[in-house]
Amino acid sequence: MIRDNIIELFSRDLPHVKINSSAEFLEKYGNDTLKLIKGSPLLITFPKTTEEVKQIVDFANKNMIGIVPSGGRTGLSGGAIGFKNEIIVSLEIMNKLIEFNEVESTLEVEAGMITQSLQDMARANNLYFPIDYAAVGSSQIGGNIATNAGGIHVIKYGMTRSWVMGLTVVTGNGDILKLNKGLIKNNAGLDFTNLFIGSEGILGIITQAIIRLTEIPKNQKAFFVGFNSLKNVTEILNVVKKKTRLLAFEFFTQTALEYALEEDTFSYVLEEKHKYYVIFEIEGTNDISYDSELTDDIVSSLFNEELINEGIIGANHADRSLIWKHREHIPISLNKHYPYKNDISVRIKDIPDFIKNLDTLLDSKYNELVVAWFGHIGDGNLHVNIPKPIGLSIQEFKSICDDLSEDIYKLIQKYEGSISAEHGVGLIKKKFLHFSKSPVEIELMKSIKKIFDPKGIMNPNKVI
Ligand SMILES: Cc1cc2nc3c(=O)[nH]c(=O)nc-3n(C[C@H](O)[C@H](O)[C@H](O)COP(=O)(O)OP(=O)(O)OC[C@H]3O[C@@H](n4cnc5c(N)ncnc54)[C@H](O)[C@@H]3O)c2cc1C
Repeated sequence: MIRDNIIELFSRDLPHVKINSSAEFLEKYGNDTLKLIKGSPLLITFPKTTEEVKQIVDFANKNMIGIVPSGGRTGLSGGAIGFKNEIIVSLEIMNKLIEFNEVESTLEVEAGMITQSLQDMARANNLYFPIDYAAVGSSQIGGNIATNAGGIHVIKYGMTRSWVMGLTVVTGNGDILKLNKGLIKNNAGLDFTNLFIGSEGILGIITQAIIRLTEIPKNQKAFFVGFNSLKNVTEILNVVKKKTRLLAFEFFTQTALEYALEEDTFSYVLEEKHKYYVIFEIEGTNDISYDSELTDDIVSSLFNEELINEGIIGANHADRSLIWKHREHIPISLNKHYPYKNDISVRIKDIPDFIKNLDTLLDSKYNELVVAWFGHIGDGNLHVNIPKPIGLSIQEFKSICDDLSEDIYKLIQKYEGSISAEHGVGLIKKKFLHFSKSPVEIELMKSIKKIFDPKGIMNPNKVI
């Protein structure tokens, strides 16, 4: 069926569903933050209800057309990119609060709600939604669930999975499922909720979610420290972890920081430049004198053990957010340089050894590339970013980076780590999945997809 026919058929069968097929919308809604691959979808649809989502899925099954669920399109693996003859289903209009449940401390929301709005709603009720990272102003809760997003607070609060108490989904088969329904205890058979969390749109479309909230952390303090030896990073983590409750522990290199500073949106707050940096955040108590003794103790340990060369502490909101800008602006600025991104993880116990071997690999084989490292090192998660050198075509650049990825993933395989810690597999990591999953696991994933999506219309060619 040709393009115009499908659009005509869609408008005839589902005249009440809002659509757009202008070049501007196809460009905007057909792509995500991965800039190395360009989408070219057929049509953008904007359902208003779960029932309309079902009708779109039924239409796609009837006419054998692929569907790509679209959240805030901040994804970094190409999972939301739409191709020829595919229909994008944007959850954007489905962004409403359904219910705040005070007794349970839960928010029931539509999947298109922006992550930051959910955070704000939680705070307005004196509660906290801890999934946080630089793109929460644009990403949606449905996208967070579909990618099982992590972010800076995983070390204390876990991934998005930990906060989902219930989901409404439309499967690729067009069935509407209400999963778990907010229950804390529910061992009545297999749990499909967890199957949909992190499924990257290949099983169905998440339309609503019940999200658990927690207490707002008390008297947070952010520490920004600089040092010049890579091995210090895990030693700093050990010292701080032993002494206090860590909310975040983020590592980055000077090369990565330079990208954050290039846009001149904030001023560097340390005196000197260093090869490596960590920002860590701790939760305090109700006892101010205890907190300040603890802070002095941490700082003196880090200096006495010669783990850091310089450091600064942010105790109030403004100082903490200035410190965090040094980390948050790294991916924001880097994304403008067509970066090739690796998002890998190993077990915490393997971090020192893994970092050493990775550093040797990058130095010995790829030293002509600029490599910007940063990551949620407290969770064993490193982002290895390579901005595209000016002068290389996207194809040439991708091919060099694919070789580098193979080398990194072989190393990851040795440590039984993951080729995708938090960004998902999407399009870009599909061919590397076998480094983290056995052939049997990949076959099982395909079989599970067939059950929920027998005609293969859901996010075709992504993940598996
Ligand atoms: C500057 C920056 C920093 C980032 N930092 C982090 C970080 O620290 N940690 C982290 O985990 N991620 C990070 N990301 C990646 C990204 O923000 C997350 O993956 C986020 O969860 C994606 O949400 P989204 O709404 O933008 O989803 P999209 O990008 O729109 O979609 C992502 C995937 O989910 C599917 N999907 C979206 N909505 C639905 C739905 N309702 N039902 C079914 N499938 C759906 C899509 O088809 C696609 O496969 C960062 C991105 C940027 C740009």
